[in-house]
Amino acid sequence: MEHPENSSLYRGLKVNKGIADAPTVNPNLKKRPRRIFTVAEYVEGITRGNITVLSQAVTLVESAKQEHHAMAQEIIERCLPHTGNSIRIGITGVPGAGKSTSIDAFGMHLIKQEGRKLAVLAIDPSSERSKGSILGDKTRMEDLSKEPNAFIRPSPSAGSLGGVARKTRETIVLCEAAGFDTIFVETVGVGQSEIAVHSMVDFFLLIQLAGTGDELQGIKRGIMEMADGIIINKADGDNIDKAKLAQSHFKNALHLFPPAESGWIPEVLTYSGYYSLGIKEIWDMVNAYVSFTKGNQYFDLKRNDQAKYWMYESINESLKDNFYNNEAIISLLKTTEQQVLHNQISSFVGAKKVMDLYLEQLRR
Ligand code: GDP
Repeated sequence: MEHPENSSLYRGLKVNKGIADAPTVNPNLKKRPRRIFTVAEYVEGITRGNITVLSQAVTLVESAKQEHHAMAQEIIERCLPHTGNSIRIGITGVPGAGKSTSIDAFGMHLIKQEGRKLAVLAIDPSSERSKGSILGDKTRMEDLSKEPNAFIRPSPSAGSLGGVARKTRETIVLCEAAGFDTIFVETVGVGQSEIAVHSMVDFFLLIQLAGTGDELQGIKRGIMEMADGIIINKADGDNIDKAKLAQSHFKNALHLFPPAESGWIPEVLTYSGYYSLGIKEIWDMVNAYVSFTKGNQYFDLKRNDQAKYWMYESINESLKDNFYNNEAIISLLKTTEQQVLHNQISSFVGAKKVMDLYLEQLRR
C-alpha cells in the first residue's frame, strides 16, 4: 500500500536548528559541586533537625565506599548520645495487605493527633531485583510525603539481608538524633526480613487481610508469634463481617502460642487504612504496650538484648567482609572451588584449606 513514509523523498521529522542557552542562565550553577560536609557539620545539622543533612548522612551510611563508611561510623557515634528516646515499630504484611495505605493513615494520625515526628524506613533485601524498593515510590504515601514532620526513606537497595538491616538500624540512630520520636520499619511479609526487623523494634505489628474463611493458611507461624499486635485491614463496606470473623480466628490461634516473654497479650484489631477507621484504637494499643513494658522493665531489657545482638551481627558482618575481600583468599577460593566441583577434594577439606590460609595470615 502507498504510504508517504515509504517514499524516497520522505524526510521524516523536520529538525529545527537548536537555540543557544539563554544568557541569563548562571554558567556556574550546573557545575557547582555538591557541598561536602565535615563530620562535625553533619552532626550539627542532624541534631538541629535539618532534613537535607540527615538525608545526605543516610546516603553515607548506605554507600559502599570505604571512606564513606568510616565517616558514617563517626557520625553515628557522635549522634548516639541524642538517641533512644523514640518508639520503634515494625510493620509487616504481604504485598497488597495495605501497608503503604496504612502507614499513610497511621502517620497522619500520629503527627496530627499525637504531635509526633515520624520516620518511615524499610527493609527489603529483594529490592536489588527491581533496582528500586518497596518504598521507592513516595507517592505510595501521598499525605505523609507532603508532611514536614515525616521523613520517608526507601530501603537501602544493595547487599545481603544482614547488610541492608545494619544500614537500616544505623539510619534509625540518625533519625532519632534528628528528633524523630516515632520510627516505622516496614518490610514485606515473606520471610527472613521480619526477623531482622523484629530485632530492631519495640513493637511488631502484623497487617493481615480477611480471606475466605481459612485465614490462618499460609501464614508463617513464626511471624505470628513475633507479633505484638495483629491488625486486620480493609474492614470496610461488605468486608466488615469477614474481618470480624478473621479477628476471632486470629484470637483463637494466638491462644495456642506460649505466653510472650514481655507478659503482653497480643491484641487483634480490625480497621480500614483506606477510610481511616479504627486507627486511634491501634495507637491506643501500641501506647498501652509501651506503658506496660516500661512498667515491667521489659522495654529496656529488650533494647539491651537488641544492642547485644547488633554488636554480634556487626562483628559477623565485618569478619565476613574481611574474609571475602582478602586478595589471597579470593584467589585460593577460586581454585579450591574448582577442586571441590571436580570431586578432587571434599567440601570440608576445601573449607579447611581456605580457613588455614586465613588463620595463618592473622598470625603473621
Ligand atoms: P501494600 O502492598 O501492602 O503496601 O498495599 P497498598 O497499601 O498498596 O494497598 C493495596 C491495595 O489495597 C490498594 O489498591 C489499596 O487502595 C487497597 N487498600 C488498602 N487499604 C485498604 C482499606 O482499608 N480498604 C480497602 N477497601 N482497600 C484498601
